[in-house]
Amino acid sequence: MFLLVFPENVLIIIISLCNKEKTMKYDYIVVGSGLYGAIFAHEAKAKGKSVLVVDKRPNIAGNVYTEKQEGINVHMYGAHIFHTNDKRVWNYITQFAEFNRFTNSPVANYKGELYSMPFNMYTFNKMWGVVTPDEAAAKIEEQRKAAGITNPKNLEEQAISLVGTDIYEKLADERRIQTNNSILKTAQDMYNSVMNLL
Ligand SMILES: Cc1cc2nc3c(=O)[nH]c(=O)nc-3n(C[C@H](O)[C@H](O)[C@H](O)COP(=O)(O)OP(=O)(O)OC[C@H]3O[C@@H](n4cnc5c(N)ncnc54)[C@H](O)[C@@H]3O)c2cc1C
Repeated sequence: MFLLVFPENVLIIIISLCNKEKTMKYDYIVVGSGLYGAIFAHEAKAKGKSVLVVDKRPNIAGNVYTEKQEGINVHMYGAHIFHTNDKRVWNYITQFAEFNRFTNSPVANYKGELYSMPFNMYTFNKMWGVVTPDEAAAKIEEQRKAAGITNPKNLEEQAISLVGTDIYEKLADERRIQTNNSILKTAQDMYNSVMNLL
């Protein structure tokens, strides 16, 4: 497998040159050396195909690229956690790399109160003092009714239906979201990101 790094416009010229001069022939040209492109190229190569992988970034691996800094693998495009409950996927991916065990347990700081994120029973307990999922569901239902929501008509109403007004206002309202993740640039990005967690 070859990796060439070119800006987008140069790539088009390269492809035209390949066609014109007929000097380089590949069964496949893969644009992007991220997980998808790399795995496709690997599997195609294993089946005897020739593959040219091009990428506009100066590195392979796409978003999951890391650089070693002072002995630590730093995720250059944002932290990544790999999770799967599929043994076949796990066996496949671990042939390429060693993984560290990691439990993702972020905490939100709302005016000095710490809440577990994404929302779970610890969040509900801290917020309302409830202990069981049924009690949490009853509280959410109570807040949904109080907000007058029957069929959610927008993202905010959907969020309140799922987690209640308190959690929505304290932890998910776009005006209050803060993140250090440089990839999420706009408030809308952050809002979408958090809403996906609900
Ligand atoms: C901040 C962040 C955190 C994430 N966290 C997680 C996580 O914890 N767990 C998880 O499972 N997933 C996570 N993801 C998602 C994960 O990164 C992607 O699902 C996965 O990397 C996608 O792989 P891909 O090969 O499809 O695309 P990418 O990794 O995006 O690779 C695409 C490659 O194509 C190149 N490219 C694009 N257009 C062109 C072009 N025109 N010419 C040449 N090259 C081009 C790009 O430079 C890039 O290298 C996260 C994503 C981000 C942004």
